Amino acid sequence: MRLKRNGSYTLNRKSKGKPNGKKPAPEEKKLYLEPEYTKSRITDFEFKELVMLPREIDLNEWLASNTTTFFHHINLQYSTISEFCTGESCQTMAVCNTQYYWYDERGKKIKCTAPQYVDFVMSSVQKLVTDEDVFPTKYGKEFPNSFESLVKKICKYLFHVLAHIYSSHFKETLALELHGHLNTLYTHFILFIREFNLVDPKETTIMDDLTEVLCTSSGSSSNGSGNGSSGSSSGNSAAAQNHVKER
Ligand SMILES: [Zn+2]
Repeated sequence: MRLKRNGSYTLNRKSKGKPNGKKPAPEEKKLYLEPEYTKSRITDFEFKELVMLPREIDLNEWLASNTTTFFHHINLQYSTISEFCTGESCQTMAVCNTQYYWYDERGKKIKCTAPQYVDFVMSSVQKLVTDEDVFPTKYGKEFPNSFESLVKKICKYLFHVLAHIYSSHFKETLALELHGHLNTLYTHFILFIREFNLVDPKETTIMDDLTEVLCTSSGSSSNGSGNGSSGSSSGNSAAAQNHVKER
């Protein structure tokens, strides 16, 4: 079965580079861990069940469909605060005390600001999810061998973007009253990448305090691990060599 995916990607961020003179307070108290905010969601869905592979659906189709959807939602969530994420306010791609660098196709390390980093992420992911050879939409077209490693790469970078929104732009997200959306998106995303082992847990440690609060309090039901959809691992990691991040 071929799932329908929405391939369009509209860049509706407002123009950047508008200096607002505001510097993000680097390591103050983590506002996003305050109970009054962590309990805010837009739905009570049981995401643990929602992310599980439905019996009739091919694993790659499921990964492709979900990855594409997360890309759109995370891009949209970022766009709500992008006017505050400028080369001045976020001179590096920082998440808590960790700094990420972008690597070009040749593996060359690129020093960049957070908005530049997010731009690299979004444009390279958009290129992948709209590439018919990587994310095929036509009936009968096969997924490439590198598909899983590419999905893993995409998820890792989308995680960086989500984590940056929390660590540097939670105040703005609160002011816009979009923290319920952010929490919901984060919970759904984390449970999805866990279900299919898409991101190395070491990579997400940086947000473990939040993950713990959001993903365990969401009323996880005790009915086991589902229909054996997790734990797929392919050895095709060659394509994942590029764009490795550094702490
Ligand atoms: Zn920023």
